[in-house]
Amino acid sequence: MNILFASPEVVPFVKTGGLADVAGALPQALTALGHRVKVILPLYKCIDHKKFRIKRISVFAGNQSITIGDKKYDFDVFTASDKNSDVEFVFVANDKLFGRDGVYLDPVTGEDYPDNDERFIFFAAAALDAARGIDFRPDIIHANDWQSGMIPGYIATIYSDDPYFKNSRTVFTIHNIGYQGHFSKKTFDKLGLAGTYYSPGSPFEYWDHVNFLKIGITTSDLTTTVSETYAREIQSGNEMGFGMEGILFYRRNDLFGVLNGVDYDVWSPQNDELIPFNYSVKDTSGKELNKKALLDEAGLRSNGKRIPLIGAISRLADQKGFDLIEKIANRLFSLDIAFVLLGTGNDNYHILFKEMEKIYPERVRAFLKFDNRLAHLIEAGADMFLMPSRYEPCGLNQMYSLKYGTVPIVRKTGGLADTIKDFSMYPLEGNGFVFEEYEAERLLDAIQRAILIYKDRATWEKIMKRGMTADLSWDSSAKKYIRIYEKALEKEKVTL
Ligand code: ADP
Repeated sequence: MNILFASPEVVPFVKTGGLADVAGALPQALTALGHRVKVILPLYKCIDHKKFRIKRISVFAGNQSITIGDKKYDFDVFTASDKNSDVEFVFVANDKLFGRDGVYLDPVTGEDYPDNDERFIFFAAAALDAARGIDFRPDIIHANDWQSGMIPGYIATIYSDDPYFKNSRTVFTIHNIGYQGHFSKKTFDKLGLAGTYYSPGSPFEYWDHVNFLKIGITTSDLTTTVSETYAREIQSGNEMGFGMEGILFYRRNDLFGVLNGVDYDVWSPQNDELIPFNYSVKDTSGKELNKKALLDEAGLRSNGKRIPLIGAISRLADQKGFDLIEKIANRLFSLDIAFVLLGTGNDNYHILFKEMEKIYPERVRAFLKFDNRLAHLIEAGADMFLMPSRYEPCGLNQMYSLKYGTVPIVRKTGGLADTIKDFSMYPLEGNGFVFEEYEAERLLDAIQRAILIYKDRATWEKIMKRGMTADLSWDSSAKKYIRIYEKALEKEKVTL
């Protein structure tokens, strides 16, 4: 199969969250199954041309440009191949739109760029033009999140008869329904579609606005999301569906949940190039040394005592359950623990954790930045990993944690519910500590249970090793995607 995989962020080029990890790993797993995959993304300013040997290619005879409303944007196409994979990467470039310091947010204001609609209309239109330019006739176009929503939108409309895409089917994946690309109705005029497409009930209209996520869901041949539980949750009502529950329920036969996998070349203590001491399930002694290295880097002391080190790596957003931590902060940090946080996000949480550092200098360290090396060290050095999310489409860090023998403490939601089973002593089972109601007291209970079991070293090691031996690699998820692509190819395509 020829697969065009479109994503607004892709490891190793640009990453703000889990989507980048998925877009870096899934195409490789599909290639390993014998398929031809090209990954397409915007050429942001932060992407290092030299490091990735990014080359401009001339693929068009004439001038290539995209018209968005009354503006005309020229574009170039670049390529790169990552030495570690057979996947080819294609970049669409326009300096005015993507030659900026932030990916989605303006780092000066902390707000979304006001022209994100134009930036990602451009991405969708240029991605399809670039595919034609390089003569890649995709069987499947797999688009991800709202930033790629107009890709199925164009395939279902102005490109429905295009010879390059005549036999193509589209699959659209929702990685987080909380981010929708919701714009005023003026955005419709920038899409380049006939006015008749803007009517109540049309994919291109949403409460007299334009919503790119709705466009992706309603114009793709099949829609997926990143865990089975999340696929059910987002249809269940407004609290989890964020307004999309109605259309998702309507399309329920075309909606599938596929759990993300882990790229163990990047995330396993045996191969990890970013941690000081490698270790494996056969010999976990390196984990103790990483713990010491992490405590040192964090400026925390254990005074020779075996105290549990709790780690967290996260966007500091309400979704991730920080309001629960805030409610129990003083009681939590009065326990005999060490706590290391790595994250950036809402100012109120920056303030909270800086304050906690001041009150509990021996126990709490908050690194308020994005730092991939430190993320690996926390996975390797912590004893427990905290992820009390309000909702979690899949979640990657709890799966990484399992491999590193770092026992997850999670709320039972989305992908966390699908990967972490609560510990029980009789019978001895479970790979983490799970709480159900979104309440601070329940979170504290789960942490206290974990701390109690941690004291019983033999039992703790059994929990660690159960996590370390589990296989959550991409292979089985990639095969599930292939079955979904085959289903899409059997369907009559969506044409509007
Ligand atoms: P989401 O996509 O909702 O942010 P996921 O758990 O799916 O959450 O993926 C988050 C990814 O981003 C993980 O790979 C995690 O290690 C990484 N990450 C999040 N915050 C940081 C940070 N401050 N520094 C380094 N990596 C981070």
